[in-house]
Amino acid sequence: MKIKQVTPFILHVPVTGSQIADSTHSITHWGVVGARIDTDNGLSGFGFTGTHAHLPSDQLIARCIATCHAPLLAGEDAHDVQRLWTKLARNPALQWIGRAGITTLAHAALDVALWDLKAKAAGVPLWKLLGGQVRERVRAYNTDIGWLSIADDKLVDGARRAVQEGFSGIKIKVGSTVERDLRRLEAVRKAIGPDVTLAVDGNGKWDLATCLRFCRGAEPFDVYWFEEPLWHDDVKGHAQLARATTIPVALGEQLYTQDAFIEFFHQEAIHWVQPDVTRMGGLTEVLRVCEAAHAYRLPVAPHAGDMSQVHVHLSYAHPAVQVLEYIPWIKDCFTDSAEVHDGFFRVPQQPGAGTTPTARAVQQYAKAVA
Ligand code: MG
Repeated sequence: MKIKQVTPFILHVPVTGSQIADSTHSITHWGVVGARIDTDNGLSGFGFTGTHAHLPSDQLIARCIATCHAPLLAGEDAHDVQRLWTKLARNPALQWIGRAGITTLAHAALDVALWDLKAKAAGVPLWKLLGGQVRERVRAYNTDIGWLSIADDKLVDGARRAVQEGFSGIKIKVGSTVERDLRRLEAVRKAIGPDVTLAVDGNGKWDLATCLRFCRGAEPFDVYWFEEPLWHDDVKGHAQLARATTIPVALGEQLYTQDAFIEFFHQEAIHWVQPDVTRMGGLTEVLRVCEAAHAYRLPVAPHAGDMSQVHVHLSYAHPAVQVLEYIPWIKDCFTDSAEVHDGFFRVPQQPGAGTTPTARAVQQYAKAVA
């Protein structure tokens, strides 16, 4: 299965309700920036990263795929995922350019495309290639009802509706003011009752003093985790917060390497581990993080940068994963979409990683790659 061609692509897909916001950004579209890898046996693999659909930035990722990484893959055997991961990670053209950001997102798209190819060549869904199903069902939690841009009454309505639809977990955004966020947290907890897990996500906006004040007010509401309370690289601050509150600390969506995660593990600065195949140089590196988390007996809840197309395979196959994020923006763009029924993800059935875009999605959402 020799690699013949690597072709980048960009899709911009609208979010729910035309616009959403958290504590650090407001967006109208989700960017699906990826690569198609064609091989000499007629198979094509697809992988992608997730962005805020800023076209000039997305063009940089597409260009990195086509001009920096793709030449290293030409003529290679697409089965050799691990070796090719290292080849791209050690790409001499990218020395000093970066071990995080554009180069890693481009790497992620290609690594996932290789896993997609490997599973398609084996004729099985990716979860089967990864060792098979370790759990009967993967529990979904709904993030799409909890944006900061949603007014208080609509937030409560949305939370109730999600529970009626079968979700046993939801997450709401925080990071505006402590007073407003505590008011919203209390209202949602009252609306959904004690049996639904309720997490909060600060997107790294607050400092330690503000987080401590928020946590003191939030503890009575049985918060499942506090996600990205502090700046993404602040290991010491997260360790201090983890010691000071009974609310578990979750993070990982902005960490790019297994080394970054290991430092949080060592310093006891994390309770829930949230790697993302679209940020970390793909599934290959995320599997390493999951193995390390498992060794530390820490639960994994993958971040939905891929909107759970690939992560659902990981979640069915890896024993460390306990729950998976659900945001439905791009699911209908793929031939095997990440569907949730009665609060659980459907087991993917098609060969591959769930990353093959539909012709309709390409026609509707594709942007020209410059
Ligand atoms: Mg988050």
